[in-house]
Amino acid sequence: MIEESLTIDDEIRARARIHAREVIDDHDLALEFDALEWAVSGRARRRAGLCRWDADREVATIVLARRAYERYEWAEFAAGVRHELVHALQFQRTGESGHGERFLELAARLEAPRRCRSFTEPRYVLRCLADDCAWTATRHRASKPVKAPDRYRCGDCGDVLEVEHTDSGRTWNAASGYGGAKAALGKDW
Ligand SMILES: [Zn+2]
Ligand SMILES: [Zn+2]
Repeated sequence: MIEESLTIDDEIRARARIHAREVIDDHDLALEFDALEWAVSGRARRRAGLCRWDADREVATIVLARRAYERYEWAEFAAGVRHELVHALQFQRTGESGHGERFLELAARLEAPRRCRSFTEPRYVLRCLADDCAWTATRHRASKPVKAPDRYRCGDCGDVLEVEHTDSGRTWNAASGYGGAKAALGKDW
C-alpha cells in the first residue's frame, strides 16, 4: 500500500477549495469553480493571498500564503480566501479586477475584507542594524536607500542599514543584495 502524505500545502488548497465551493453555493455566485486554479506560496509573508489572471488562458489563480495559514485563525484566513474569490469572479467576468465599488459591494456580501493585506503594508522597511538603536522607516517604492542601503546611514545613530522586502521577508544591506533578492523572487517581487 502506498502511503500518501498530505503536505500542509495540500491541506491549505483542500480547505480553501471546500470553503470556496460553499461560498459559491451559499451566495449563488456566477463563478466558474472548475476554471479556478489554486497555489500556495511559501514566500509571501505579509499577504494572505492574491489572485492572478492569465489573460491568454483566461484562468484565475488564487495564491494563498502558507505563513498566513499557519499564523491566522481559520476564520481570518477564510475571509482572505473570499476576498480573492471576488477578484477571481471579476477577472472571469471582465478580465480585470480592482478594489472599486462593485468589488466592495460583493466583498461586503461575502463578509470579506475590503483590502488585500498588502495594500496596507509598506513594501519595504528600512532598519538600523545597531543593537541599541530602534530606528526604522517604511517605503512603498524602491527608493535609493532601498536599492543601495550601503550608501546611507541611520538617521539617528549613523550606523549601517538593512532593508526588508515585507512580502517575502527577504533582507539585504547592499545594492547587490537588492538585485539578488529581486532576481530570486521573480514574479513574487
Ligand atoms: Zn484585493
Ligand atoms: Zn541607528
